[in-house]
Amino acid sequence: MIVSRFAPSPTGGLHLGHAWSAIQAHDRARQHDGRFLLRIEDTDATRSRPEHVAGILEDLAWLGLGWDELSVQSERLALYDAALDRLREDGLAYPCFCSRAEIAREVAASLHAPHGPDGPLYPGSCRAIDPATREERMAREAYAWRLDAGEAARRAGPLTWTDELAGTAPVEPLMLGDLVLKGKDRPASYHLAVVVDDAAQGVTHVVRGRDIMPSTHAHRLLQAVLDLPEPVYRHHALILDAEGDRLAKRHGAPTLADWRAQGMDGTALAHRLRAGDLPAGFSFDR
Ligand code: GLU
Repeated sequence: MIVSRFAPSPTGGLHLGHAWSAIQAHDRARQHDGRFLLRIEDTDATRSRPEHVAGILEDLAWLGLGWDELSVQSERLALYDAALDRLREDGLAYPCFCSRAEIAREVAASLHAPHGPDGPLYPGSCRAIDPATREERMAREAYAWRLDAGEAARRAGPLTWTDELAGTAPVEPLMLGDLVLKGKDRPASYHLAVVVDDAAQGVTHVVRGRDIMPSTHAHRLLQAVLDLPEPVYRHHALILDAEGDRLAKRHGAPTLADWRAQGMDGTALAHRLRAGDLPAGFSFDR
Protein backbone atom coordinates (compact mmCIF):
# COMPACT_ATOMS: atom_id res chain seq x y z
CA MET A 1 0.00 0.00 0.00
CA ILE A 2 1.23 3.49 -0.82
CA VAL A 3 1.75 5.74 2.19
CA SER A 4 2.64 9.37 1.49
CA ARG A 5 2.93 12.39 3.70
CA PHE A 6 2.90 16.17 3.75
CA ALA A 7 5.31 17.40 6.40
CA PRO A 8 5.24 21.18 6.81
CA SER A 9 7.15 23.13 9.45
CA PRO A 10 4.77 25.48 11.29
CA THR A 11 7.10 28.45 11.03
CA GLY A 12 4.85 30.59 8.84
CA GLY A 13 1.75 30.50 6.69
CA LEU A 14 1.60 27.99 3.83
CA HIS A 15 1.86 29.41 0.30
CA LEU A 16 1.06 28.15 -3.19
CA GLY A 17 4.20 25.97 -3.27
CA HIS A 18 3.06 24.13 -0.16
CA ALA A 19 -0.40 23.64 -1.67
CA TRP A 20 1.18 22.11 -4.77
CA SER A 21 3.31 19.79 -2.64
CA ALA A 22 0.41 18.74 -0.41
CA ILE A 23 -1.85 18.04 -3.40
CA GLN A 24 0.75 15.81 -5.03
CA ALA A 25 1.45 13.87 -1.85
CA HIS A 26 -2.27 13.50 -1.20
CA ASP A 27 -3.12 12.41 -4.74
CA ARG A 28 -0.18 9.97 -4.91
CA ALA A 29 -1.78 8.03 -2.05
CA ARG A 30 -5.42 8.50 -3.04
CA GLN A 31 -4.93 7.27 -6.60
CA HIS A 32 -3.97 3.89 -5.16
CA ASP A 33 -6.23 3.55 -2.17
CA GLY A 34 -3.26 4.39 0.02
CA ARG A 35 -2.83 6.48 3.12
CA PHE A 36 -1.97 10.17 3.29
CA LEU A 37 -0.32 11.39 6.50
CA LEU A 38 0.01 14.93 7.78
CA ARG A 39 3.07 15.47 9.94
CA ILE A 40 3.81 18.73 11.70
CA GLU A 41 7.60 19.19 11.80
CA ASP A 42 7.98 21.41 14.83
CA THR A 43 11.30 20.35 16.35
CA ASP A 44 12.54 23.93 15.88
CA ALA A 45 10.73 25.26 18.95
CA THR A 46 12.05 28.79 18.55
CA ARG A 47 10.41 29.25 15.13
CA SER A 48 7.34 26.98 15.38
CA ARG A 49 4.02 28.56 16.40
CA PRO A 50 0.71 26.92 17.39
CA GLU A 51 -1.23 29.40 15.25
CA HIS A 52 0.65 28.14 12.19
CA VAL A 53 -0.32 24.56 13.05
CA ALA A 54 -3.98 25.63 13.17
CA GLY A 55 -3.52 27.50 9.88
CA ILE A 56 -2.04 24.41 8.17
CA LEU A 57 -5.05 22.28 9.15
CA GLU A 58 -7.44 24.96 7.87
CA ASP A 59 -5.49 25.40 4.63
CA LEU A 60 -5.55 21.68 3.83
CA ALA A 61 -9.27 21.42 4.60
CA TRP A 62 -9.85 24.50 2.37
CA LEU A 63 -7.96 22.78 -0.47
CA GLY A 64 -10.18 19.73 -0.03
CA LEU A 65 -7.32 17.49 1.17
CA GLY A 66 -8.25 15.06 3.94
CA TRP A 67 -5.55 13.19 5.89
CA ASP A 68 -5.67 9.75 7.51
CA GLU A 69 -3.33 10.48 10.39
CA LEU A 70 -1.98 13.60 12.06
CA SER A 71 1.32 13.49 13.94
CA VAL A 72 3.39 16.15 15.64
CA GLN A 73 7.16 15.71 15.89
CA SER A 74 7.50 17.44 19.26
CA GLU A 75 5.46 14.53 20.70
CA ARG A 76 7.81 11.94 19.21
CA LEU A 77 11.17 13.04 20.62
CA ALA A 78 11.85 9.69 22.31
CA LEU A 79 12.05 8.06 18.87
CA TYR A 80 14.72 10.50 17.71
CA ASP A 81 16.68 10.05 20.94
CA ALA A 82 16.64 6.28 20.44
CA ALA A 83 18.02 6.67 16.92
CA LEU A 84 20.71 9.03 18.17
CA ASP A 85 21.62 6.54 20.94
CA ARG A 86 22.09 3.87 18.35
CA LEU A 87 24.35 6.08 16.22
CA ARG A 88 26.38 6.95 19.32
CA GLU A 89 26.73 3.31 20.31
CA ASP A 90 27.85 2.50 16.78
CA GLY A 91 30.49 5.23 16.98
CA LEU A 92 28.81 7.29 14.26
CA ALA A 93 27.93 10.39 16.29
CA TYR A 94 30.15 12.81 18.19
CA PRO A 95 29.51 15.86 20.39
CA CYS A 96 30.28 19.22 18.82
CA PHE A 97 30.96 22.20 21.07
CA CYS A 98 31.49 24.77 18.30
CA SER A 99 29.54 28.00 18.08
CA ARG A 100 28.49 29.35 14.69
CA ALA A 101 31.21 32.02 14.99
CA GLU A 102 33.90 29.41 15.69
CA ILE A 103 32.80 27.37 12.68
CA ALA A 104 32.85 30.48 10.46
CA ARG A 105 36.38 31.35 11.67
CA GLU A 106 37.61 27.82 11.07
CA VAL A 107 36.13 27.75 7.57
CA ALA A 108 37.66 31.15 6.74
CA ALA A 109 41.08 29.97 7.92
CA SER A 110 40.96 26.75 5.92
CA LEU A 111 42.14 26.55 2.33
CA HIS A 112 40.16 23.46 1.47
CA ALA A 113 36.92 23.82 3.43
CA PRO A 114 34.42 21.34 1.97
CA HIS A 115 31.35 22.98 0.46
CA GLY A 116 27.76 21.78 0.33
CA PRO A 117 24.64 23.04 -1.43
CA ASP A 118 24.26 25.98 0.98
CA GLY A 119 27.88 26.98 1.45
CA PRO A 120 30.74 25.65 3.55
CA LEU A 121 30.20 22.43 5.47
CA TYR A 122 31.20 21.84 9.08
CA PRO A 123 34.97 21.28 8.97
CA GLY A 124 34.85 18.46 11.51
CA SER A 125 36.88 20.22 14.22
CA CYS A 126 35.26 18.35 17.14
CA ARG A 127 35.50 14.92 15.49
CA ALA A 128 39.12 14.46 16.54
CA ILE A 129 38.86 15.56 20.19
CA ASP A 130 40.37 12.85 22.40
CA PRO A 131 37.97 10.91 24.64
CA ALA A 132 39.20 12.37 27.95
CA THR A 133 38.92 15.98 26.80
CA ARG A 134 35.55 15.20 25.27
CA GLU A 135 34.21 13.83 28.57
CA GLU A 136 35.53 16.77 30.46
CA ARG A 137 34.07 19.33 28.05
CA MET A 138 30.69 17.54 27.95
CA ALA A 139 30.43 18.04 31.69
CA ARG A 140 30.68 21.82 31.48
CA GLU A 141 29.82 22.99 27.93
CA ALA A 142 26.76 22.93 25.72
CA TYR A 143 27.07 20.67 22.71
CA ALA A 144 25.27 19.37 19.67
CA TRP A 145 25.54 15.84 18.25
CA ARG A 146 26.86 15.43 14.74
CA LEU A 147 27.01 12.51 12.36
CA ASP A 148 30.47 11.24 11.43
CA ALA A 149 29.47 11.19 7.78
CA GLY A 150 32.80 9.83 6.50
CA GLU A 151 32.65 6.80 8.77
CA ALA A 152 28.94 6.33 8.07
CA ALA A 153 29.64 6.38 4.33
CA ARG A 154 32.42 3.79 4.71
CA ARG A 155 30.11 1.47 6.60
CA ALA A 156 27.12 2.02 4.31
CA GLY A 157 29.05 1.37 1.07
CA PRO A 158 27.67 2.58 -2.27
CA LEU A 159 24.03 3.71 -2.12
CA THR A 160 21.47 4.91 -4.62
CA TRP A 161 18.15 6.66 -4.39
CA THR A 162 15.18 6.28 -6.69
CA ASP A 163 13.04 9.20 -7.74
CA GLU A 164 9.80 8.63 -9.63
CA LEU A 165 10.51 11.62 -11.84
CA ALA A 166 14.31 11.65 -12.11
CA GLY A 167 15.14 7.92 -11.97
CA THR A 168 17.82 6.19 -9.90
CA ALA A 169 20.94 8.11 -8.96
CA PRO A 170 24.02 7.40 -6.86
CA VAL A 171 24.01 8.87 -3.36
CA GLU A 172 26.75 11.38 -2.55
CA PRO A 173 26.99 10.55 1.15
CA LEU A 174 29.13 13.55 2.06
CA MET A 175 26.76 16.06 0.43
CA LEU A 176 25.85 17.64 3.79
CA GLY A 177 29.01 16.62 5.65
CA ASP A 178 28.86 15.96 9.38
CA LEU A 179 25.28 17.16 9.75
CA VAL A 180 23.71 17.98 13.10
CA LEU A 181 21.59 15.19 14.59
CA LYS A 182 20.59 17.03 17.72
CA GLY A 183 21.21 20.74 18.25
CA LYS A 184 22.36 22.60 21.33
CA ASP A 185 18.81 23.88 21.69
CA ARG A 186 16.94 21.64 19.27
CA PRO A 187 15.91 18.14 20.40
CA ALA A 188 16.34 16.61 16.94
CA SER A 189 17.50 17.98 13.62
CA TYR A 190 15.19 17.97 10.62
CA HIS A 191 17.35 15.28 8.99
CA LEU A 192 17.23 12.85 11.89
CA ALA A 193 13.53 13.37 12.64
CA VAL A 194 12.40 13.06 9.02
CA VAL A 195 14.30 9.83 8.44
CA VAL A 196 13.13 8.26 11.69
CA ASP A 197 9.50 9.27 11.15
CA ASP A 198 9.25 8.25 7.51
CA ALA A 199 10.38 4.78 8.55
CA ALA A 200 8.34 4.57 11.77
CA GLN A 201 5.20 5.70 9.96
CA GLY A 202 5.67 3.31 7.07
CA VAL A 203 5.99 6.05 4.46
CA THR A 204 6.61 4.42 1.10
CA HIS A 205 6.57 7.59 -1.06
CA VAL A 206 8.32 10.79 0.00
CA VAL A 207 6.78 13.56 -2.10
CA ARG A 208 8.44 16.97 -1.67
CA GLY A 209 10.00 19.86 -3.58
CA ARG A 210 13.15 19.62 -5.65
CA ASP A 211 14.82 22.09 -3.30
CA ILE A 212 15.16 19.29 -0.72
CA MET A 213 17.02 16.97 -3.13
CA PRO A 214 20.49 17.69 -1.64
CA SER A 215 19.21 16.53 1.75
CA THR A 216 18.03 13.25 0.25
CA HIS A 217 21.67 12.17 -0.10
CA ALA A 218 22.09 12.55 3.65
CA HIS A 219 18.73 10.91 4.35
CA ARG A 220 19.69 7.81 2.40
CA LEU A 221 22.96 7.64 4.35
CA LEU A 222 21.10 7.86 7.67
CA GLN A 223 18.61 5.22 6.53
CA ALA A 224 21.46 2.88 5.65
CA VAL A 225 23.30 3.18 8.96
CA LEU A 226 20.06 2.95 10.96
CA ASP A 227 18.88 -0.10 8.95
CA LEU A 228 15.72 1.69 7.85
CA PRO A 229 13.78 0.89 4.67
CA GLU A 230 14.33 2.98 1.56
CA PRO A 231 11.28 4.92 0.39
CA VAL A 232 10.66 5.97 -3.20
CA TYR A 233 11.12 9.72 -3.71
CA ARG A 234 9.23 12.16 -5.85
CA HIS A 235 10.93 15.55 -5.90
CA HIS A 236 8.51 17.78 -7.78
CA ALA A 237 9.05 21.07 -9.63
CA LEU A 238 8.88 24.27 -7.59
CA ILE A 239 6.59 27.23 -8.17
CA LEU A 240 8.17 30.60 -8.94
CA ASP A 241 6.78 34.08 -8.45
CA ALA A 242 6.56 36.85 -11.06
CA GLU A 243 10.25 37.71 -10.52
CA GLY A 244 11.24 34.09 -11.11
CA ASP A 245 12.10 33.56 -7.44
CA ARG A 246 11.16 30.48 -5.49
CA LEU A 247 8.23 31.12 -3.16
CA ALA A 248 9.41 31.51 0.39
CA LYS A 249 7.84 32.60 3.62
CA ARG A 250 10.58 35.11 4.20
CA HIS A 251 10.06 36.84 0.83
CA GLY A 252 6.49 37.58 1.77
CA ALA A 253 4.80 35.27 -0.75
CA PRO A 254 0.98 35.56 -0.45
CA THR A 255 -0.26 32.88 1.91
CA LEU A 256 -3.12 30.48 1.40
CA ALA A 257 -4.67 32.08 4.50
CA ASP A 258 -4.69 35.46 2.69
CA TRP A 259 -6.52 33.90 -0.25
CA ARG A 260 -8.87 32.04 2.04
CA ALA A 261 -9.73 35.31 3.80
CA GLN A 262 -10.41 36.93 0.42
CA GLY A 263 -13.02 34.28 -0.30
CA MET A 264 -11.09 32.32 -2.94
CA ASP A 265 -12.43 28.78 -3.52
CA GLY A 266 -9.69 26.40 -2.32
CA THR A 267 -11.06 23.27 -3.97
CA ALA A 268 -11.23 25.09 -7.29
CA LEU A 269 -7.62 26.24 -6.80
CA ALA A 270 -6.58 22.63 -6.14
CA HIS A 271 -8.33 21.49 -9.34
CA ARG A 272 -6.56 24.18 -11.35
CA LEU A 273 -3.18 23.17 -9.92
CA ARG A 274 -3.82 19.54 -10.78
CA ALA A 275 -4.41 20.63 -14.37
CA GLY A 276 -1.09 22.52 -14.32
CA ASP A 277 -2.90 25.86 -14.44
CA LEU A 278 -1.28 28.31 -12.02
CA PRO A 279 -2.78 31.62 -10.85
CA ALA A 280 -1.53 34.70 -12.76
CA GLY A 281 2.01 35.71 -11.86
CA PHE A 282 3.22 32.20 -10.94
CA SER A 283 5.10 29.66 -13.03
CA PHE A 284 6.70 26.25 -12.65
CA ASP A 285 10.46 25.93 -12.42
CA ARG A 286 10.77 23.35 -15.17
N1 GLU B 1 9.46 20.13 7.03
C1 GLU B 1 10.09 20.36 5.77
C2 GLU B 1 9.73 21.73 5.25
O1 GLU B 1 8.72 22.28 5.64
C3 GLU B 1 9.67 19.37 4.70
C4 GLU B 1 10.30 18.09 4.90
C5 GLU B 1 10.07 16.98 3.91
O2 GLU B 1 9.06 16.97 3.18
O3 GLU B 1 10.87 16.08 3.95
O4 GLU B 1 10.46 22.23 4.43
